[in-house]
Amino acid sequence: MHMKTISGASVRCENLRKTFGAVKAVDDVSFEIGGGEFVTLLGPSGSGKTTTLMMIAGFEVPSDGDILINDRSVAAVQPRSRDIGMIFQNYALFPHMTVYQNVAFPLRMRGREDQETRHRVRVALETVGLTGYDNRFPRQLSGGQQQRVAFARAIVFDAPLLLMDEPLGALDKQLRQRLQLEVKRIQRDLGVTVIYVTHDQEEALIMSDRIILMNDARIAQMGTPSELYDRPVDKFVASFLGESNMLHGRVDQSQGDEGSMTLNGRVVTGQVAAGLGAGDPALLVVRPEKIHLTDGHSDMRTNRLSGQVLESIYVGDHLRVVVGLEGGEQLVVKHPTYFGGRNINIGDIVEVGWHPADTRILRES
Ligand code: ATP
Repeated sequence: MHMKTISGASVRCENLRKTFGAVKAVDDVSFEIGGGEFVTLLGPSGSGKTTTLMMIAGFEVPSDGDILINDRSVAAVQPRSRDIGMIFQNYALFPHMTVYQNVAFPLRMRGREDQETRHRVRVALETVGLTGYDNRFPRQLSGGQQQRVAFARAIVFDAPLLLMDEPLGALDKQLRQRLQLEVKRIQRDLGVTVIYVTHDQEEALIMSDRIILMNDARIAQMGTPSELYDRPVDKFVASFLGESNMLHGRVDQSQGDEGSMTLNGRVVTGQVAAGLGAGDPALLVVRPEKIHLTDGHSDMRTNRLSGQVLESIYVGDHLRVVVGLEGGEQLVVKHPTYFGGRNINIGDIVEVGWHPADTRILRES
C-alpha cells in the first residue's frame, strides 16, 4: 500500500487552565508531545480530558497558559487554520453527502483542485480499507465503516496532528479492538502525531506511546503504559489502571527509593514513594499477577505473608484466588493454570510471595 510519511507536529501545553464559572475543568496542566507520538489523555469522567483537547483544537479558549504547536503559540490562530485533523465519537458524517464527498470536504474547504482531491481521497480511502465505497451514503455503512470514513476525512489533508475524542466509543468490543490496532498501525505508517482521549484504560494501554492520566483537572501521572502500570506514583494511579492489592500499614524505614513496612509481623520491602518516611501511614501495592502461592519451601522471593484460601475461582487461564491474611486483610492472587499447577482449595493454609521490585509503598491518600 502506498504510504506517505508526514512530519508529525510537536505539541506543548504550558500551565493550561480552564474554568467554567466556579468549575475548574483544567488546572495547571503542562506536557510536551513529540512529533509522531501517540499520546492518550486518560482519566475518569469529568477529569478534564475533553476540555484539554478542545483547547488544543481551538474550540475552547484557555483561561490561562499557552499551547505551542511546532514551537509556535497558537493563541491567536483560528481553529480552521491550526491544520488539525479531528475525529470525535459524535462528530457525525454529513448524511446527505456520499463517502467521497465527505472525505473530499476538507480539501474543498481548502480550495484544492479536482485532480489532487481525487487522488488524495483515493489514497485516504485505501488507507482505511474502504476502496470502492465512494458512492455510498453514511446510512448505508456500518458504525465501524462510518468511523473509518471519519478517519479518512481527518487524514486526507495530511494534517501533522490528529485529535481523537473517544472515536471508538460507540462500537462493540470486538470491532473496537480491531480498529484500535488499525488506527495505531495507520498512525505509525503515516508518522502523524495523535492525541487521543479515552476513559478506557485497556484501550490506552494498547494504543499509546505515552499516557497522560488525569484526575480532577490535573495530571496524576504521565509516562509509558508500563511506567504507569508498574510504577504508579499514587493510590489513584494504582487503582485506576488494572487491579491492585492494597494493604495498610506504616513505613518502617526508607532510604532512597527503597523502603519497608511490617505487615502481620513480617517485614516486606519495596519501592517507596518520594517523601514517605519512617512512621508515615502507607499502602503496600502489589498486582495480583505478581503474587505466587507457595508451600513455604519452594520459593525464594523475599516478600512473604501467610494466610488461608477464602475463594478459588477458575477463570480459564488462571485461578483467581482470594487469600485471607492473618491480620484480616485480603489479597487477590492470579494463579496461572498452566502445567497442571497445584490444586488450590478453599481452606488451604498458604504462603504468598512476591518480589520487592513488584512492590510499591505509596501514600495513604
Ligand atoms: P468525559 O470522559 O465525561 O467526557 P472529561 O474528562 O472529558 O470527561 P471534561 O469534559 O473536560 O471532562 O469536563 C471537565 C469538567 O468541566 C467537568 O466538571 C465538566 O462538567 C466541566 N465542563 C466542561 N465543559 C463545560 C462547559 N462548557 N460549561 C461548564 N462546565 C463544563
